[in-house]
Amino acid sequence: MNIIIFGPPGAGKGTQSNFIAKKFNMYQLSTGEFLRKEMSENTLIGQKISSVINAGALVSNEIVSDVIEKVISNSKYQNRIIFDGYPRNLNQARNLDELLKKYKQKIDIVLKLSVKLTTIKKRISERQTLEKRADDNAEIAIKRYETYEKSTEPVIEYYKNLNLLKVIDGEKTIDQINKEISDIISLI
Ligand code: AMP
Repeated sequence: MNIIIFGPPGAGKGTQSNFIAKKFNMYQLSTGEFLRKEMSENTLIGQKISSVINAGALVSNEIVSDVIEKVISNSKYQNRIIFDGYPRNLNQARNLDELLKKYKQKIDIVLKLSVKLTTIKKRISERQTLEKRADDNAEIAIKRYETYEKSTEPVIEYYKNLNLLKVIDGEKTIDQINKEISDIISLI
């Protein structure tokens, strides 16, 4: 089983992916975490992307597609991946389709955490005091939200048309959302 999880910044994608990974023995592939690690280690990629990330925009498809292929092609992770933060635009969705086909896999379910902008603002400001992410300030968070609406919402529509989409009320508590997601996955 492979899963994609979508949601605007602050929706709880990372928290819920982490929970699913542990509970169902899956691998959480977070492109955001991968990119943050590159920045904190000040690698060449890290140096290239920090201004893009801190503007709330998307880094180039090439940078993320490399890491995606490394994971999909690794037999250790076969059919047990949670895509947390990928695909973020239609080109990435097409790339993911091709890679899955190439390595004889598929997406089984797509989850979308639906959250209001007022809640997002509140959660991001709470997270900033805890995690100190540079891209969690109010101004960049709005930019990230706009990027999500413009580039990522069309991808969600794409999976909806394939009948893979389940929308989850991301306003509920972490535990309630955990339960709802577990119930959906258990039915697959
Ligand atoms: P996230 O942790 O998923 O909120 O991602 C943090 C930031 O990393 C995003 O705002 C983007 O700048 C960048 N990022 C993460 N995933 C992708 C992706 N699939 N494509 C391009 N940029 C990404």
